[in-house]
This record gives sequence, C-alpha cells and structure tokens, in this order.
Amino acid sequence: MKKFGFLLFLVVMMIAFPKMADASSYSAKIYLDGQQINVSSGAKVENINGTVMVPIRIVSENLGFQVDWSKATKTVTVQDGSQKVTMTIGSQYADINGQRVQMTKAPVLRGGTTIVPIRFVSEQMGMQVRWDNGTKSVHLTSGNAGSNPDGADGAHTATVDGISFSDNKLMVAVTGNAKPSISKLGNPDRIVIDMVNTEFSDSFGTMNDYDEVNKFGQMAVSGYSDVKSVRYSLYNSSPLTVRIVLDLNQPANYTVSGLENGSEILTVALTAATDPSPGTSGKKIVVIDAGHGDHDPGAIGVTKKREKDFNLAMALKVEKLLANEPNIDVVLTRSTDKFLELKDRAKLANDLKADVFISIHANSGPSAATGTETYYYDQSDKALAAALHKEIVKAMGLKDRGVRYGNFHVIRETKMPGALLEVGFMSNKTDESKLFDPATQDRVAAAIVRGIKNYLNVN
Ligand SMILES: [Zn+2]
Repeated sequence: MKKFGFLLFLVVMMIAFPKMADASSYSAKIYLDGQQINVSSGAKVENINGTVMVPIRIVSENLGFQVDWSKATKTVTVQDGSQKVTMTIGSQYADINGQRVQMTKAPVLRGGTTIVPIRFVSEQMGMQVRWDNGTKSVHLTSGNAGSNPDGADGAHTATVDGISFSDNKLMVAVTGNAKPSISKLGNPDRIVIDMVNTEFSDSFGTMNDYDEVNKFGQMAVSGYSDVKSVRYSLYNSSPLTVRIVLDLNQPANYTVSGLENGSEILTVALTAATDPSPGTSGKKIVVIDAGHGDHDPGAIGVTKKREKDFNLAMALKVEKLLANEPNIDVVLTRSTDKFLELKDRAKLANDLKADVFISIHANSGPSAATGTETYYYDQSDKALAAALHKEIVKAMGLKDRGVRYGNFHVIRETKMPGALLEVGFMSNKTDESKLFDPATQDRVAAAIVRGIKNYLNVN
C-alpha cells in the first residue's frame, strides 16, 4: 500500500511536471546494492524523457526476477513470490496483482528487445530506487534494507518526499506519521498547511524546486482560477515544521483527504471554482466571447459599421456588470481589438472549466431580414440559450427569430453549456442603428446578465 501510494504520486508528478524530466537520451548507469550492473552487449539502457528504460533481460539476469514473455499478447510478466507485474507493449497501464496502475512510460520494443521502465518494475518488486542526477545513475537497493525516515535522535519524524499541484489539487507525498494542520487565511488569501515533526526528505530536491541550503522552494501554478502558486519551507527547526502555502487569487474552499488508513498522500482539493451545482458558495465562471476581431471584422453593416466592434463593446459591458456579481467570475476571450482562432476561444473556456460560455455576434442577411436569434449546439446548451434569448429579445424589441440549432465551432467545442448570440442584423438599417446605440447596448448587456443569472440560479 505504501509503495503503491508513492508510485501514484510519481505518476502524477511526471504528468504534472513533464519539464522536470531530463529529455536527453544518454545511457544511464545502474547500480544494484552498490555494485554497477554490467549491461551485457546489445542490451541498451535508454533514457526516454526522464524515464530510464532497461531491456527486460536486465530484470531477469541482473535483478533475478522471473520474467515471462508472451509473443501472442505482447505482454511481459515479472514475478517474485506472490508479487506479479504484467505489462503490455505500448500500454501505459500495468497490472499489479490484478490492480490496474499507470506507468510513466509504456514498455516498447527495440530491435526485438522489450525495454521497461526500471523504476516502476523495481519498486513494484520491493526494491528501493534512487536516481542520482549528478552521475546519471540508478541505484537499486534490494530486500528490506532499511528505510529509516526517523531522525537520529529517534524522534518520530516524518518526511515530505514531493509536492505537486494538478487537477486543482495539492498533493503531498509523505513518509512517516505526519500530522498536518490546515488553515485558511485572508489578506492575502491563502491556505496554510503546517506539519510538525516533519522535514523534507533527502530526495525532495530532485523532484521539486528546492533551495537545499535555505530549505525552501516554490512552484508557479497556471491554468487554475483559484491558485496562483505553491510555496514550501522548513518553517521551524525546533520542532521541525514543514509549511506549505497555497497562494490564492480569491478565497477558496477545500477538502482534505489522505494520511489516514496508511495513505502516504495528503490531498488538499480546492472546491470553490469547480463546484457544478448552482446556488452553493462556489463562484461560477462565465466566459464571454466577443466574436471576430482585428483583421476579421465580421459582418459589415449598412452604414459600414463593423460587427467586431459591436461584439467587443457588448462583451466589455457584460464584463463590467458581471464584475459586480459576488457569485460570478467573468473572463473575456478578448478585451481588445485582437484576433483569436476559434479553437483558442473554446480552449480558454475548457481550460478554465467555465460554467457558461457565451459568444456575442451580430447577423447578416438580406436587407429586409431583422430580429434576434440565439444558437445552441446540443441539448445541454438549450436551457442557457433559451434563458438568454428571452431577455435579449425583450431588450432589443425586434422580431423574435427563435432559439435555433447551429453547428458553430465555439459552442460545439466548448465542454460547458454555451450559446451564440446573433443580437440583430448588421445588414438591416433599423437593426444596425439599435446595435450601435449605447443605451440599447446597456439594456442588452443587462439582459444577458439576467439570462446568465437565471440560468445559473445565482443571486
Ligand atoms: Zn459574427
């Protein structure tokens, strides 16, 4: 259980911080209980983006485990007593005594030889694995040769082995009996985790940014609405205390799990921005997309006005109103006259895990065509489109052309409910003058905000 937990952590680390891995492809040296393994000729050790891969022959000949290879299923089985690890060429998932576990790298075929990630295999087979980055070598320790995290004085000291942040969760890998106390502080907003009788492990610096002398480090966090950065330090030396601080952009709620039932991973999951159910304390994220921009003017009106300018004016007005809403965070895809690819507009909303996406446009057609249309892409968009449409039609006072299906990139590729507004026709004289009338724009902006709030059921 212990090993399994840390392994999962390693996998998360590799996914979260691929740049930490060494991308060079030198040959690493391998030591078993202090003795360098002489890799037989033809068997090449590879370093693939930081994962040291060894021919399966090393696992059987040098490490002494039973290895079976099935050509038919392309699987390698490594066995020692009751411990059994099965890996498949090209698959990142291994089977450990019936349990599916993800590896950092899938086994691959190299000129008829199967190469496997040595850390993964060795750890699963009960070995301790240490990577020496200075000498680019793997050190394996067999048997139960002592893990001894306790301090020399025999005090019950735990160690922090690694810290990562992904999927809006802080994960702290801990060995030993750590007792975290967690508190939420304001001014500036942050979450503080203190662990008494705990220090950083010797290997902590190989995985995390860490100043060994002053015993602190930090990691920048991007792509999350709540968290700015994570800092950590040996806050106190008597008693030894590790402090981890999550610097927040705004107050956020969290749940804590782990460090009980033998778990080695403390998880602090932030809940505020991603809470999907309306009416709770979590803030909703609304992305407003002003269509077109820069060299793409969109529709040109009867008096040569440009759709992109209407779209941007509206987005800015909606943003201003939403900024006053205590339960909503608003993000614009563009706040200036710049161009964005459609896929980047959708990606922004998806990356933010936004609750609502609204793309603002104005229509074009025969000069007689007039009125307001609102588009949805699939069933999950429909309620949002209807809530917005009802309000916008009232605010514009033009013909109600209905809530319609439309296969538009931005509402197709966004994962959250989305709607595309065609507020009025640039190609119609009456519509165009309304679209560019500041008072009408204010009314439509307020209508969009009402529609959003009704849909999200927030006050
Ligand atoms: Zn448009």
